[in-house]
Amino acid sequence: MPTKPTKPEAEKTSTRAVNWGDFREHLATADKDGQRRWLYPRKPVGRWYRWRTWMSWVLIAIMFAGPFIRIGGNPLLMFNLIERKFSILGRIFWPEDTIIFAVAMLIFFAGIMIFTTAFGRLWCGWTCPQTIMMEMVFRKIEYLIEGDSHQQRALDAAPWNFSKTTKKVLKHSVFFLLSFVIGNTLLAYLIGSDALLRIITDDPRQHLVGLTFMILFTLVFYGIFARFREQACTFICPYGRFQSALLDENTMVVAYDYKRGEKRAPWKREQRLDLRQSEGLGDCVNCRQCVAVCPTGIDIRDGIQMECVNCTACLDACDAVMDKIGRPRGLIRYASLNGIEHGQPLRFTARMKLYASVLTGLIALFLILVFTRAEVETMFLRAPGAMFQTMANGRISNLYTVKVVNKSSRDLPVQFRLENAEGGITVMGAPTFVVPKDRVRQASVLVELNPTHLTGRTTKLKIGVYSGERRLETVSTSFVGPR
Ligand code: SF4
Ligand code: SF4
Repeated sequence: MPTKPTKPEAEKTSTRAVNWGDFREHLATADKDGQRRWLYPRKPVGRWYRWRTWMSWVLIAIMFAGPFIRIGGNPLLMFNLIERKFSILGRIFWPEDTIIFAVAMLIFFAGIMIFTTAFGRLWCGWTCPQTIMMEMVFRKIEYLIEGDSHQQRALDAAPWNFSKTTKKVLKHSVFFLLSFVIGNTLLAYLIGSDALLRIITDDPRQHLVGLTFMILFTLVFYGIFARFREQACTFICPYGRFQSALLDENTMVVAYDYKRGEKRAPWKREQRLDLRQSEGLGDCVNCRQCVAVCPTGIDIRDGIQMECVNCTACLDACDAVMDKIGRPRGLIRYASLNGIEHGQPLRFTARMKLYASVLTGLIALFLILVFTRAEVETMFLRAPGAMFQTMANGRISNLYTVKVVNKSSRDLPVQFRLENAEGGITVMGAPTFVVPKDRVRQASVLVELNPTHLTGRTTKLKIGVYSGERRLETVSTSFVGPR
């Protein structure tokens, strides 16, 4: 979605010699030989940055506390791929909950679509863990140790001496330590905080796989935040890449008001505002402060670009310039293309309404599935290769393997009863069959039937799964007997 003037308009209104296709043809972070151009974004200052900082502290606190917060004894969030056990808002989900997962995924993608269509990359600037950690943690530490943009540039250009070495060692040590904490947090989300604590406190030789992942995650995060940085958003993150398919002229984006800004020309101290306007000059004084603060190195005045993560740094930078020259804030602001071109307010369009109704339907379906989900899931399978047996009492028996998944948050003593035939069910090897909470338990079960109840070579059985007098569910299986 272009938010810049068309080429002929641009040529009429811009004072700078620009190749308008230029910014689309090269990366802001690469020089003409394709080598990485290291960015030194200036430290942002302003209200947007302040609001984002507060928001970030809240999100960072939630992110680090997430694996340790329990609801009903279960983690707030856990994606244990190894045990194939997932916890969302304290409710445990199993691979058996495939339909719930499929609906959750659809909600996730529909949510992304509607959110992006309405609010563009608001997610990237305000809530994405990569942006938050990079801009609000690692970058702040860098400013603290190495100073602002020009000091960092000078430090990198300076020969190695005691001061430079100390600063670099200190910065990278802190980065590594933080990466270790982030890596461990990710591990806690994957395997659960209890398992993580066991890895930390037990004999390391018993947790070689866990330790390997711990080191691997640490190195990956260190690599991302110390070196890879904005490239993660530009090259790796798929979200930025499908923006063009979702954004339209009504989407809210960080946009430069070219109608107000052009034609741009430097501000002269003695210049009167009314004269500047009568000369056909706009509010943009071409100070490039918006470019200096950009963590992805782009010039937002060229229009919306895939690299823009909506971090708002350029809003603050430009607002400060407008304050200085006595012009209203918002030359760069959150707006839609229609807002800039036609002064239209942000609208909830038909496309957004369609996405929203699909999303509402999916959320309703998800809630129904979650809240009507059975506490247990039982599989009753005849033992492979086993035939029927005739017992001493004349009954016919079949051997089964039963697997019970307890999805509730308490241990469940389970009994099985025949619902449509007379006979008996015995769980082998244990007087009681208790399935611990959030666990799967398996046992061998012997089912006996009176021959008078057989309906042929195969008899359909209905078996009730009870906890006390409460029937949890009824499962079907088949029973084989003599002809
Ligand atoms: S900060 Fe504002 S005035 Fe300065 S170049 Fe950017 S858009 Fe123009
Ligand atoms: S253009 Fe502005 S909002 Fe976009 S990444 Fe750069 S500074 Fe952030």
